[in-house]
Amino acid sequence: MSISDSISLYIHIPFCRLKCSYCDFNTYAGLDPLIPSYVDAVCTEIRHYQGCEITNIGTIFFGGGTPSLLPAKSLAQILTAVKATFELKPDIELSLESNPGTLNPVYLNSLLNLGFNRISIGAQSAISSELQLLDRLHTFRHVIQSYKDALSAGFNQINLDLMYGLPNQTESSWKHTLSQVVDLGAQHLSLYSLHLEQDTPMFSRVDSGYLPHPNSDITANMYKYADTFLKSHNYNQYEISNWSITSNYSECRHNLQYWQNLPYIGIGAGAHSWYKQHRYTNTKSPYEYIKLLNLNVSAKEHRVDYPGTPAMIQSTLIDTDTEMNETMMLGLHLLASGVRHNEFQSRFGANPKNHYKSILSQLVSQGLLHNDHNGIRLTTSGRLLANRVFSEFT
Ligand code: SF4
Repeated sequence: MSISDSISLYIHIPFCRLKCSYCDFNTYAGLDPLIPSYVDAVCTEIRHYQGCEITNIGTIFFGGGTPSLLPAKSLAQILTAVKATFELKPDIELSLESNPGTLNPVYLNSLLNLGFNRISIGAQSAISSELQLLDRLHTFRHVIQSYKDALSAGFNQINLDLMYGLPNQTESSWKHTLSQVVDLGAQHLSLYSLHLEQDTPMFSRVDSGYLPHPNSDITANMYKYADTFLKSHNYNQYEISNWSITSNYSECRHNLQYWQNLPYIGIGAGAHSWYKQHRYTNTKSPYEYIKLLNLNVSAKEHRVDYPGTPAMIQSTLIDTDTEMNETMMLGLHLLASGVRHNEFQSRFGANPKNHYKSILSQLVSQGLLHNDHNGIRLTTSGRLLANRVFSEFT
């Protein structure tokens, strides 16, 4: 599917009930009183794009944080500003990230009425001790209930996020989690291995020896098991970390936009945009974000060039070489299509076979890449060493 004529919109909601032990995202617990003024600021930032003539928004993704902490009327307020500013494609994908325990049938019905057609649920594990280790507030019962409620409400694109490579996690507990979500009929799965991020409680617990360091061999086995197990249950792995059930082909179009290095506009504290050859970065602090939007000065007078908004604190011109490299790194996440020679050639006027000749021949000879008429793609071994492959294109 080509979505190259679309622009995507990401809206960051930086509120969570509790900060999870491993999380270094730009998100905060205990800031709920800020929600109304934050939502007003988001609407103000969106309105700064009036006149940009963006007529082809193909996907909108409310991410966080926990966007499902926003009341339906706040989501409606944001969507009203979006519709007044941008023209949306008729088949738009409208997604919301959520956590189990923040969803109920009334809320899910409100989401559907607002036009949401995809929901992602942060399940993480089916094992209570693992959820506690991650400082998650929910149990797997909440996951089951949320999934069933979303299905009954009428959502037909539901993702579950899971995590593997956790301290003390065993291959058998991972197998149990996978079998539970498959039994539930999960339509789409995102499987993420734990990254120990500095300045998180999880990092300190491992660093101090209180928890064992995750074993990289076991983590690799978990990934390989997921590959085999999910394939045998009719899941198609279309990206390094993402599987969709083949009978209901529900790839996340918003993320496909990122992996194809296509333009997106990020709204909210800490959001990034990639638009008109520039990378834009918004201020990270929700307080500062609200303050800057309340000042509501023109971005041009303020900090960055058009189409900047007052929240933007940095803009970087991306030169063509960098854009080519980023297109390779992102495109290689897509396992079936990878980077297609003809698409790369028509975008950049250069054939990747020639442009990256020596890198490609080295990675192909190491068994990490395929480079044939189907395009440039990671091999099975390449998936396990993906970061090493990507580093060749920096
Ligand atoms: S719910 Fe998600 S965004 Fe919020 S703290 Fe946990 S991992 Fe981070």
